[in-house]
Amino acid sequence: MNEKKDCKIVQDLLPNYIENLTSEETNLFIKEHLKECTECQNILENMQKELNIDNMKREEREVKYIKKFSNKMKILKLIILTLIIIYVVIVIGRSFIMTSLSKKAKENLLNNNYYAKLYSYQGDSLTITESYNKGEDYLTTKTSYVNGNQIQKLTYYKKGTEELFLTDLDGKKYIQNPESMVGSHVVPEIYVSCGFLTNMQEAFITGIDKTYCNTKECYVFKGNDYERYVDKETGLIVRAIEKSDIDLFSSQIDMIIDYEYKFNVVQDSDIVRPDTTGYIFNE
Ligand SMILES: [Zn+2]
Repeated sequence: MNEKKDCKIVQDLLPNYIENLTSEETNLFIKEHLKECTECQNILENMQKELNIDNMKREEREVKYIKKFSNKMKILKLIILTLIIIYVVIVIGRSFIMTSLSKKAKENLLNNNYYAKLYSYQGDSLTITESYNKGEDYLTTKTSYVNGNQIQKLTYYKKGTEELFLTDLDGKKYIQNPESMVGSHVVPEIYVSCGFLTNMQEAFITGIDKTYCNTKECYVFKGNDYERYVDKETGLIVRAIEKSDIDLFSSQIDMIIDYEYKFNVVQDSDIVRPDTTGYIFNE
């Protein structure tokens, strides 16, 4: 009877006992009892087995979860790495395109026999620039129109040591001081720099696409507020767009400039002294 009473107590204590939550004295009491009671021994063994199975299951679940998680992280890392590699390849590709364009442009810039024609549009105003260049000599005219009416014409002429600067503003024709000939020399426009590293920096922020512009095969460089169409053959800009934000407070309109160049076509006879009839000296 006493045995049975002990059994009840021991069995109540066993769950705590196997988790090491019982005191020294209790442990001693349980051990003493277990030595003589096979029934309680069996119960303990079963409890331990179940506990082990539980632990194993939990561990398995944890391992599975960690594996699943680390697999996801691996895939994510792989995707990020792939994207970085693709981007770097794109940037390096762009840099090579830019460097090749700059080499072609450089060759053309060394050529001092060229004809250039520029159309510059902004809203309803248009400026046409025509420039004949041969060696040090040149003849450049800039004619501005608003709504199709000519409002201004500037003529720059330099041959040998002679320089002439004529202005025609709303019919007022003046011969100006040649020292004020600013921006009279039209030089082909280039976009890219010669340095590969500088181009690479630019390539990080500028998008490049292939396109056609003014019947020429081009690369277009697009920034936030500009577009540059660069001729694949010459490396020179054939179209430039300056974008302006249109908001409530400003009514600015995009400016578009179209460029046209012809090399090795200018004759001495193209650089003719302009007719100064009707022009008076601006005192
Ligand atoms: Zn017992």
